[in-house]
Amino acid sequence: MKRQFLFERECIHRDHGVDGDSYNGMFFIQALQRMHSEDAVQMAAKVSPFFWVDAPRVIVWLCKQCATELALVDSPRVVRQAGRVA
Ligand SMILES: [Zn+2]
Repeated sequence: MKRQFLFERECIHRDHGVDGDSYNGMFFIQALQRMHSEDAVQMAAKVSPFFWVDAPRVIVWLCKQCATELALVDSPRVVRQAGRVA
């Protein structure tokens, strides 16, 4: 069975037990591109790296603070379906 998403990445705060949501990698990339380059570099450093070409198949878990910094809080979340995402 093919999985919809190949990769899952997360921000560095996930281990701290904070609330967060998963977002499509494309939204993450687009949000980075909206930021000033210095801010984008700092933000990108908080998430495990992936190739941008893979973004459509990546889901990125972000805590609320990171999602707010990226202005992603209003973006649609990835809907997890049982068995689709490990
Ligand atoms: Zn975070």
